[in-house]
Amino acid sequence: DPKNTSRICSKCGYNSGAKPLEIRECTCSKCQTKHDRDINAAVNILHKGSTKLNGQGLAMVTS
Ligand SMILES: [Zn+2]
Repeated sequence: DPKNTSRICSKCGYNSGAKPLEIRECTCSKCQTKHDRDINAAVNILHKGSTKLNGQGLAMVTS
């Protein structure tokens, strides 16, 4: 379920809410991490998938 994956910071989990599609990059207002929208969404999807598969969540992501 890709819901909210382009809204949630892949680093700290902060949900910054809906953003217009034309915004390709954003900076998290909580941890100040700069994100590419699609990459951030992809990382969030990976987190969701890995949590479902092995229950380890963020442990798989090292970068
Ligand atoms: Zn953040």
